[in-house]
Amino acid sequence: MNGRLPIVWHPDYVAPLRPGHPFPMSKYGYLREALKARGLMEGWLAPAPLSALQIAGAHDISYVERVVAGTLAKDETRRIGLPATEAVSRRARLSSAGTLLAARISLERGLAVNMAGGSHHAAADYGSGYCVFNDVAVAARSLLDEGLVGRILVVDCDVHQGDGTARIFAEEPRVFTLSLHAAKNFPARKAVSDMDVALADRTEDADYLARLDDALAEALERARPDLVFYNAGVDPWEGDRLGRLALSLGGLRRRDRKVLATARAAGLPLAAALGGGYSRDPAELAARHAILFEEAAALAA
Ligand SMILES: [Zn+2]
Repeated sequence: MNGRLPIVWHPDYVAPLRPGHPFPMSKYGYLREALKARGLMEGWLAPAPLSALQIAGAHDISYVERVVAGTLAKDETRRIGLPATEAVSRRARLSSAGTLLAARISLERGLAVNMAGGSHHAAADYGSGYCVFNDVAVAARSLLDEGLVGRILVVDCDVHQGDGTARIFAEEPRVFTLSLHAAKNFPARKAVSDMDVALADRTEDADYLARLDDALAEALERARPDLVFYNAGVDPWEGDRLGRLALSLGGLRRRDRKVLATARAAGLPLAAALGGGYSRDPAELAARHAILFEEAAALAA
């Protein structure tokens, strides 16, 4: 155990897909190897899959039951973009459990990272864009229901808008949703977050980091949170296959450091989820995701 940065992982975060499937499922395994090589995987914690009822805190129970029973309609499965297999459904339950576990640990230790999750396109009664269950929403709802926290801030820096999260919490004043995303990227129909920062194509480091700085300051003031969730998607990187922004690797690193250090400076626990990142080279992609863990470990040391 490195004793410093708590990392949540489960072997079944990797669910088998047909060869050539566009979702980069292999990145989760490659990331594990990348973190092992950095000495960060010695003390990982495993979640147990959540029950349908626990997930239904943030989702329509009949949708959850269709996912678990493998009875989603064809158009529902098509919208998700992942096959309706037992492994994919189990992975979704585990990934929500992982973000919830990371959040619980962050309340004790200040900081924890789930090596999956950030499934922010999933709304209450449907999945979308490779997202089955909205792990951050499930975790947030659990913590609120248990009375462990009173108010939550979701900082979503994945390049795609956190539309599902915004919709789930549209009428929930205790959860403040902030999304920084490429204005012209998926989803075409945007939701309304509590704060949206819609960025022009090819936005670079300096602009991005300035907008992030301002947004974080304003969101913290308006949200007055007890806990922060961070979607650390690496698809704002300039070479990402599905991104439209132009952050350098150094820019991604400064972004992560800024979000983590801002929460720390405010004395707020932070739970991070992996989020999106797309590449045909899984080793490159894993190294890109590893930046978050390097920065978090440096801060936790
Ligand atoms: Zn994304």
